[in-house]
Amino acid sequence: MKTSIIGYPRIGDLRELKFASEKYFRGEITSAQLEQTAKEIRLHNLELQKNSGLDFIVSNDFSFYDGMLDTAFLLNAVSQRYTSLGLSELDTYFAAARGYQGEKGDVRALAMKKWYNTNYHYIVPEIDDSTEIKLAGTKPFDLFREALDNGVKTKPVVIGAYTFLNLARYTGQRTAADLTDSIAVAYSELLLKFSRLGAEWIQIDEPSLVKDMTAGDIELFVSLYKKILAGKYGVRVLVQTYFGDVRDCFNELCGLDFDGIGLDLVEGKRSLELIQTNGFPQDKVLFAGVVNGKNIWRNNYEKTLSVVAELKKYAKNIVLNTSCSLLHVPCTLANETKLSESYKKYFAYAKEKLTELAELKTILGSEDPAEEGGYLRNTALHSEQRSGGNAAVREKVASLTESDFVRLPGFAEREKIQKARFGLPLFPTTTIGSFPQTADVKAARTALRKGELSAADYERTIEKKIAECVALQEEIGLDVLVHGEFERNDMVEYFGECLDGYIFTEKAWVQSYGTRCVKPPVIWGDISRAKPMTVRWSKYAQSLTDKPMKGMLTGPVTILNWSFPREDISLKESAFQIALAIREEVLDLEANGISIIQVDEAALREKLPLRRSDWREDYLDWAIPAFRYVHSGVKPETQIHTHMCYSEFADIIKDIDDMDADVITFEASRSDLTILDVLKANDFRTEVGPGVYDIHSPRIPSKEEIKAAIDKMTERIPVSKLWINPDCGLKTRGNEETVPSLKNLVSAAIEARNENG
Ligand code: GLN
Ligand code: ZN
Repeated sequence: MKTSIIGYPRIGDLRELKFASEKYFRGEITSAQLEQTAKEIRLHNLELQKNSGLDFIVSNDFSFYDGMLDTAFLLNAVSQRYTSLGLSELDTYFAAARGYQGEKGDVRALAMKKWYNTNYHYIVPEIDDSTEIKLAGTKPFDLFREALDNGVKTKPVVIGAYTFLNLARYTGQRTAADLTDSIAVAYSELLLKFSRLGAEWIQIDEPSLVKDMTAGDIELFVSLYKKILAGKYGVRVLVQTYFGDVRDCFNELCGLDFDGIGLDLVEGKRSLELIQTNGFPQDKVLFAGVVNGKNIWRNNYEKTLSVVAELKKYAKNIVLNTSCSLLHVPCTLANETKLSESYKKYFAYAKEKLTELAELKTILGSEDPAEEGGYLRNTALHSEQRSGGNAAVREKVASLTESDFVRLPGFAEREKIQKARFGLPLFPTTTIGSFPQTADVKAARTALRKGELSAADYERTIEKKIAECVALQEEIGLDVLVHGEFERNDMVEYFGECLDGYIFTEKAWVQSYGTRCVKPPVIWGDISRAKPMTVRWSKYAQSLTDKPMKGMLTGPVTILNWSFPREDISLKESAFQIALAIREEVLDLEANGISIIQVDEAALREKLPLRRSDWREDYLDWAIPAFRYVHSGVKPETQIHTHMCYSEFADIIKDIDDMDADVITFEASRSDLTILDVLKANDFRTEVGPGVYDIHSPRIPSKEEIKAAIDKMTERIPVSKLWINPDCGLKTRGNEETVPSLKNLVSAAIEARNENG
């Protein structure tokens, strides 16, 4: 049985691409140097795959920023506002990804959205009425050739036409249906070019097929591929799906002229059942996604082998595959030098997953599978009793009742009490929590870790940063202050470190967007709060000012969604365990004089099941209560804020109101404040701070620009409910952008106040 993967992490084992790109952005290295680093990473990945014995090695999974953006460039779907800047190809690409402000012009970046139910973000291509789709780029071919020159005929991957059209944003009159002909021509040309280059297989990713599909969607998909596959020029085409099952279009998928169909048997709840019920076309290869591409736990060979045995009854030709691209897991355990073997033996990162595929292949090819060393080691591991249980926590979760999830009095009454207590002006200004994590903070943390700085000295450093941050905010004139989050490397990892039941990795970085990576902690055992986590910092910060100081926590759903979860207990159980711990911290902050507490649920929307029919039961029915439990015990006069980013939350707007926070701030600027209409239509009750500028881009918004955003807001939202803030934390920005941006923000708010007061 052959083996395959869908994609390999491209950021580099030690995030080499991130560091090189950032140097390039700062003008410290040339584009040739950046290209060189990129090439080294690609060749390294190629070597790893080759050495592991993998049969289908991938190419074109590399990207300087994002695969959707690459596809937009490949298909000539790039707005003129970027191409007309007159920058180099690479810089035009980065301008679309990050925005550009310089001598050639001033343009905002394209919108960015979460990639299905992951914490990866893709750049949303824009299609306007002048977009002329055609095969324009050469990257897939260049990278195929590069691998060929290095002795490997790869399976190149591209994002498919249906997914591209499905995720793009249409800013003019045209819709996806108007583009089918031109995009189909582009993809046929792509097949032709690959055929000329000698490619045997090409992988076309169509993850949008696992979402709910209307009859119109199915028709669009079928008509696209009838056209695209009309001439394959001898190239075999694999249509690859992931993040779910293809229940709406399974038969159409089987009926089209694909040579291979890739299904996700890990996250696809019904993938197996679809095959069992409908059979599988004998002339096609089934790429069976049995190795989880999203989590770090070792595969359970016994389970996998039983799935494969079942599949064999229906499919003649099976290739063992990962469930999705390995982009969503870290590179290799080899760099985890500090983690004890007693944990590590349960882990498999991308490189180790290659080994798992190889072992599974050996086992499946063996006369006596049960005698294979890999099989024996794996079954022994999975039969061990794991450490980390906490009976008290389990009991507490089991004993929660309805009233535990209800905060009293109700919202309207609390709003009155809080307005009286805080006496804030109209359009109160605030930030989302973090301030720039400048080099000195990071250096202090590194020194602490290496033992070069004592804990006491580290704490003094943090206090000094807090004091400066508070003074800066007072100078800028913000109304509700924050301490700046200097003690945190990351909004989830920090809490994980303070909670029992978590374990940490050193180098388990996963790309989140562009050069940004996250290092999700691992939920190992049952979770509980070992000690107060933020109280001392918030208390200290509050002692420096008379203005309200927001306490700053991460909510249970986000902590869970940004961790590697366990596979042996339910997500609901984990979410409630974390909620118990965060609630203790909320009450502790309140008891220590903190009057406003923000509980970030940045990632609330992220793990919402892709299919609407799964939303309630599989997610919202426990995620919203978990958040409510966190704050249901505070006094009416304590104000609870929450924050969400990149939230496409139009469709769960009622549930968000139902979280029963007092104020919510969220990303809105990058999506042109389109969320405002939704808030209005739903009579949104919670006070809102739709971000007035995009912090993910280095450009400084002018006062006028921010004022225009405020004006848009006041047209739709009662002024008494509006807050003015950036759209996310400022941690990744520098002070040189942050300070003028916030000054402009405050001036714009004052102007709005004067006009509306
Ligand atoms: N409070 C966090 C911060 O400001 C929120 C970050 C986020 O939403 N991703 O950094
Ligand atoms: Zn955010």
